Amino acid sequence: MLQIYNTLTRQKEYFRPIHEGYVGIYVCGPTVYGDAHLGHARPAITFDILYRYLQYLGYKVRYVRNITDVGHLEHDADEGEDKIAKKARIEQLEPMEVVQYYTNRYHHDMEALNVLPPSIEPHASGHIMEQIDFIQKILDQGYAYISDGSVYMDVEKYAKDFHYGILSGRNLNDIVTDTRELDGQNEKKHSYDFALWKKAAPEHIMHWHSPWSEGFPGWHMECSAMGCKYLGEQFDIHGGGMDLMFPHHEAEIAQSCAALGHQTVKYWMHNNMITIAGKKMGKSYNNFITLQQFFNGEHELLSKPFSPMTIRFFILMAHYRSTVDFSSEALEAAEKGLSRLKEAYSRLMTLKPAEKTNIELFDLKEKCNEAMDDDLNTPIVISNLFESAKAINTIYDGKATISSEDLDKLQSTWKTFVVDILGLIMDDTAGSTSNNNAYKGAVNLLLTIRQRAKQNKDWATSDEIRNALTQMGFTIKDKKDGFEWSL
Ligand code: ZN
Repeated sequence: MLQIYNTLTRQKEYFRPIHEGYVGIYVCGPTVYGDAHLGHARPAITFDILYRYLQYLGYKVRYVRNITDVGHLEHDADEGEDKIAKKARIEQLEPMEVVQYYTNRYHHDMEALNVLPPSIEPHASGHIMEQIDFIQKILDQGYAYISDGSVYMDVEKYAKDFHYGILSGRNLNDIVTDTRELDGQNEKKHSYDFALWKKAAPEHIMHWHSPWSEGFPGWHMECSAMGCKYLGEQFDIHGGGMDLMFPHHEAEIAQSCAALGHQTVKYWMHNNMITIAGKKMGKSYNNFITLQQFFNGEHELLSKPFSPMTIRFFILMAHYRSTVDFSSEALEAAEKGLSRLKEAYSRLMTLKPAEKTNIELFDLKEKCNEAMDDDLNTPIVISNLFESAKAINTIYDGKATISSEDLDKLQSTWKTFVVDILGLIMDDTAGSTSNNNAYKGAVNLLLTIRQRAKQNKDWATSDEIRNALTQMGFTIKDKKDGFEWSL
C-alpha cells in the first residue's frame, strides 16, 4: 500500500483518498515569463511519477497544474513589478503574448521530458472572479483588511485562531526578522501581512475591476481559488517545490482556513531543490541553465548536449526529497547508465524463450512495487532494474535460458516500470519505426556525401557536415571501409 511523506505532519502516511470517485492533485505550475530550467523540470517530473503511479494503482486522478500569468511580483511575491508585465514592457509585447509564448515553450519542454499533460491547466488570469469571491470570504470572516484599495491578510489576527506556520514550522517572530523593509510596507499593519488584492499603480498594465480597486490578485490567492474550484473544498494532494513552502503554501493554508474555517489539503508533498556544481541556482552565479540549453549543449557549464531522457533519468536517480547536484560529469554518468538500461531493454524484447528457466530470477515486480509504495522511491526501482539487467545479459549471451512464461512476465514488468511508471522512452531517436528508418537513412546519406567530399579533397564540406552533426550530439568514427555513428 502506498505511503507518502506528508510535509504537514512530517511523517510517512498511508495514502487514503478522500473522495470515492477520484484522487485530486494540485501542483503549482510555472510563472510563464522565461524559459523553463531545471527548477521547473524537477517538480514536473516528480509529480508526473505520482500521477502515473496512482493511475497504475487503479485510481482515477484529476491532476490540476496551474499557469501563473498574473500577480507574481518580483520581491517576496508581494512587492515590486509583476514579472510578466515587466517582460512585456521590456519586449514591447502585450502581456498575454508573453504568457502564450512561454506557455507554448514550457509545453514543448515538458513533452520532450515525457511529462504527461495535467487533466486541467487553469490560468490565474482566467480566474479573477473566483479569486475576488475567495478574498471577499476572508474579509467577511474578519481575517483581512482593506488599505488604500489593497486587501491584506491580517496575519496576527489569523494566528490567534489558527496555527500560522503549521507547514513551514516558522513562527511569527522568525518571520518579522526575516522580512525586509520594502516600499508599500506602510500600507500594511505588519510586515508579515501578505497581499490578497493589490491596487494597480497607474503604470501597471494588468488590472481588473474589484469591489476594492482597479487591481490584481496577490500571487498566493490563485492556487487557493483554483484548487477549490476544480478539486473541491477538501482534496488529497498538493505538491510543489520546497522553495514554495514559505510563504506561498503557508499563505494558501491561511487563506483556506480563514475563508472556509478548515484546511483544504490532506497531504502536502514537496520535492527538494537542485544545485548546480554545488551552488544554488541563481542569476548571480550565472548557472541558470535552461532545458533547451541542456538539450543543445549551449552553455559554458555543459560539456555537450544531453537528451531530455538523460535529464529525466538523472532526476529519477535521486529520491525526490533529496537534493540533486547537477554537473556535466554527473550527467555523463547518468547517460551511460541510461544506455545500459536501454541495451538491456532491447535485448529483453528480442530474447527467445526456452524449455525452462535455469537462472535465478528475483521477483522484480514485487520489488519495484515495494519501492514505489515507499514514498515513490525511484532510485530503488532503478537499482532493481539494473540487477535484473544482469540476468537479461546472461541469457542474451547464451549462458542461461528463460521459459516462455518467465519471459512474458519479465517483459511486461520492464514495460510497466520503465515505460509506463518511470516514463522513460526507450527509443528516443524517433517516435515510430518508419520515422526511425528515415532518420537513420538521412544521417547515413549525409555521411556518404561527406565521404565523397573527402575523396574530392573538399575539406570545407566535409568539416561542415562533421561539425554540424557533432553539434547535434552525434559521435562519428571514420573507418577504413566507411564510417560509424551513434547519438
Ligand atoms: Zn501555487
